[in-house]
Amino acid sequence: MPVYVSNLGFPRIGARRELKTALESCWSGKTTREALLGTAKELRAATWQRQQALGLDVVPSGDFSFYDQVLDTSVMLGAIPAIYRPLGAPDSLDVYFAMARGTQAGNSDTGCTHGHGNGHGKGDVPAQEMTKWFDTNYHYLVPEIGPRQRFELTTTKPVDEFREAKALGIHTRPVIIGPVTWLLLAKSAQEGFEPLSLLGELLPVYVELLSRLRDAGADWVQIDEPALVLDLDDKARAAFRTAYAEFAERVSGLKLMLATYFGGLGDNLDTAVGLPVAGLHVDLVRAPEQLDAVVEKAPANLTLSLGVVDGRNVWKTDLAAVLDRIAPVAARRTKLLIAPSCSLLHAPIDLDLETKLDPQVKDWLAFGVQKLEELALLGKALNNGRESVAEALAANAASIAARRASPLVRDPAVRARLASVDAGWSVRATPFAERIAAQRAILDLPPLPTTTIGSFPQTAEVRKARAAHGKGLLDDVGYDAFLREETERAIRWQEEIGLDVLVHGEFERNDMVQYFGEQLSGFAFTRGGWVQSYGSRCVRPPIIYGDVARPKPMTVDWWRYAQSLTDKPVKGMLTGPVTILQWSFVRDDQPRADTCRQIALAIRDEVVDLEAAGAKIVQIDEAALREGLPLRRVDWQCYLDWAVDAFRLAASGVKPETQIHTHMCYSEFNDIIAAIGAMDADVISIETARSKMELLGAFSAYSYLNEIGPGVYDIHSPRVPSTAEMETLLVKASESLSASQLWVNPDCGLKTRKWEDVKPALVNMVAAAAALRACI
Ligand code: GLN
Ligand code: ZN
Repeated sequence: MPVYVSNLGFPRIGARRELKTALESCWSGKTTREALLGTAKELRAATWQRQQALGLDVVPSGDFSFYDQVLDTSVMLGAIPAIYRPLGAPDSLDVYFAMARGTQAGNSDTGCTHGHGNGHGKGDVPAQEMTKWFDTNYHYLVPEIGPRQRFELTTTKPVDEFREAKALGIHTRPVIIGPVTWLLLAKSAQEGFEPLSLLGELLPVYVELLSRLRDAGADWVQIDEPALVLDLDDKARAAFRTAYAEFAERVSGLKLMLATYFGGLGDNLDTAVGLPVAGLHVDLVRAPEQLDAVVEKAPANLTLSLGVVDGRNVWKTDLAAVLDRIAPVAARRTKLLIAPSCSLLHAPIDLDLETKLDPQVKDWLAFGVQKLEELALLGKALNNGRESVAEALAANAASIAARRASPLVRDPAVRARLASVDAGWSVRATPFAERIAAQRAILDLPPLPTTTIGSFPQTAEVRKARAAHGKGLLDDVGYDAFLREETERAIRWQEEIGLDVLVHGEFERNDMVQYFGEQLSGFAFTRGGWVQSYGSRCVRPPIIYGDVARPKPMTVDWWRYAQSLTDKPVKGMLTGPVTILQWSFVRDDQPRADTCRQIALAIRDEVVDLEAAGAKIVQIDEAALREGLPLRRVDWQCYLDWAVDAFRLAASGVKPETQIHTHMCYSEFNDIIAAIGAMDADVISIETARSKMELLGAFSAYSYLNEIGPGVYDIHSPRVPSTAEMETLLVKASESLSASQLWVNPDCGLKTRKWEDVKPALVNMVAAAAALRACI
């Protein structure tokens, strides 16, 4: 029996982000909905044809989405909250885009209209909540269901797309999200209600869907249940048994490939292999150690799909190593597929489009298309013998060896320095109580000091100047002069409205990670390595390929210039090591923790240089610390230990009187409050405006003693908060924490806002702080 070559899903945004362009132009009313549908259809066809041409035996369909596959599933199942129902037919794009993006009366940029005119009135409807898909940087729209939710098959998207491919002569394997994972991801619209309790109501809709897929001609369906790699309770495990027993009983003539990814099955292995499905996909990149147990426990007639090519990173696969591992399994099992570890949604699309990458580094990489080529090659080697593809295997081995031996990857100076680091480097010289006294004496700030998180609006002019500079239309001198002007204006304005601790505004930064990556060694940047973040939004994560070092100071000149304009303290502003790591493609030849430590040392040097230049306050943002938490609780502590240590390593090179700030823009601290405490930042600013200060409970329960700036201004909305509102929030904060600990600041940076919102909001914020000072 041959080994079959398969894929679990392909990026839908298009190698040149064609879908992004089509979506945004439709949303803004420049093009019609028909044009959008046409582009989507072309993209799907091209994707199927390309995969077929690459030699895949199993090509997925249904992996296309206009916005998000979880939203597609919610709509398909009829889980459309009542607020969206008046906006159009349940299966319409009006409802779909309203759930994805919200609608605002009078704003034409929130939906896109039909060529034949837009029939629906629009109200003010918020978008569904968005959150990260497992431990990826992809965001999905969170399904919301209440006890009275009834399900019905509202769209037949997977069936339609299967037929569409079939019409092109391509027999695909439809992909759907499984019922248990979908329910486990759903949030409850009512307290005390558990979405999983509606499994019985949901299953008939899945039975109908599966039957329709079978009737349309599908023989296999890929049903994604990544929840099987999470910590599950007995109820959830029982739900899996119930669901798949029901499908086995009620849908005949259709085989299910149950797909798990992003981790090992662990203690859910028995549950998974015990389900009455025809196939099981396992992730052998994130959890290579599970292969033996899976092979041993899987019944002989279970088709195994082995995820051997990393679907989430950019490195070439060591094909010889995979063959050594898989060939013995292939010899023993008759039903075997090879596949990427997970959908390729999380990888950039095509390395061939990269014309500017260092050819040495480029030779080590594989993007989506190249990963499928690797799989095709592996298939040939397994089926026809390695000699049949000897040349290609030799080329792969040469790339792998070159990467291993390359001086670009290993920097002896970085390694020697890291080896000399001892625990003392991660500890400030004196405890917080002493530090804060020294800092207060120097800074001489009023109680409830006011500040901002760092960035000011990245206006059209700022972006235009950056683009012109990038294209060579504006020379360095001109660009520098422009940025200086922006910075000076920001400083003057902050002084004018009476903020206590100023920022330079970050006008020179394209992105809080890229800006640093571009100045550090060991990083590479792509031109077209886009990965979908959410909806039409894509990011181009840097690639960390080698040891990280900081050849020279990165931010000191800008800080020095800003500080030269004012007597008030200006914060040095840096991105922390965990966040830089988390938002990059990370090398896979050493533990993440080691890479993080290297970045931490580079940031530490920058902190020390800022101090030497005269900075009294340095902020190290760790926006991504929480999202780095592993999927399984047993792995949390280990992660938190090295993540916190990396932050401390970055922060602890300075004198006691230098004040270290950190910023985190999320609002769930309960799980990690001890780690936040252990970071020992002198001041932390966090997001709290939306939750109305509720999360401060975690800080007071922990008896958090360091200083803290709970955001009083929700920067995610153009709304200008009033002085009274912000005062109320501050009073509330002072009930959980001591007023002497508190700072006054917005929730996050202001780069996405407009000056016309920011100005009155910050004026009000300063007034709120002043009003409260009068009462303490
Ligand atoms: N200093 C950054 C800014 O103000 C922080 C942003 C973030 O944490 N997301 O934009
Ligand atoms: Zn933030």
